[in-house]
Amino acid sequence: MKEKYIEIIDNNLDKNFIINSENCTWDKIYNSKNAQNCYIADNFEDVKFCEIWYEAKDCFWCVGLKNSKYCILNKQYKKQDYFKLKEKIINYIIDTWEFWEFFPMQNSPYCYNETLAQNTFKLSKKEILDLWLDYKEEEKQEAYTWPEIKIPENIKKTSDSILKEVLKCKTCSKNYKIIKQELSFYKKIWISLPESCFKCRNLERIKIIKPVIF
Ligand SMILES: [Zn+2]
Repeated sequence: MKEKYIEIIDNNLDKNFIINSENCTWDKIYNSKNAQNCYIADNFEDVKFCEIWYEAKDCFWCVGLKNSKYCILNKQYKKQDYFKLKEKIINYIIDTWEFWEFFPMQNSPYCYNETLAQNTFKLSKKEILDLWLDYKEEEKQEAYTWPEIKIPENIKKTSDSILKEVLKCKTCSKNYKIIKQELSFYKKIWISLPESCFKCRNLERIKIIKPVIF
């Protein structure tokens, strides 16, 4: 399955996915209309600068919402206030030329290397600190001292008792756990539990995923 996925990604690396949509720009947009500069969007209409959510209409600059209307920066407004404020913001940021800029990184409540920015624009600790951004040190973890658990290859043979176990990552040897929601998800799609921790899986994913194109 993984090989097939990599083949699809490789064959479409230079293409943005905009499917069954009209007047939409950026990437991974489905069943939408007038979704401008949106990323990972399904069922959008008249939406600008929004990312990762489903069923949105008349929203601006939001992320990770679902079934939303008249939101700006993830805050809900009344219909008449939404259109007034949106126009005011757009006029301001066009006048000040901020319209074409990213949000200032210094406004982020997270350290640079904790954010998805590190996936796309990877920086070293020194580079991060040189930009006057925050850097989060790797958390020290206790050595793995539990008896090693063999994860069953067959998800059907994986019992709920695995939720109580501390597992050892096959890649970095650090500890990780499986939560109830993960176990039920893997059971639902018939895939065995991961043998690596979240961080290692994410690094693996970034290597094969289509890069975000700005
Ligand atoms: Zn790991």
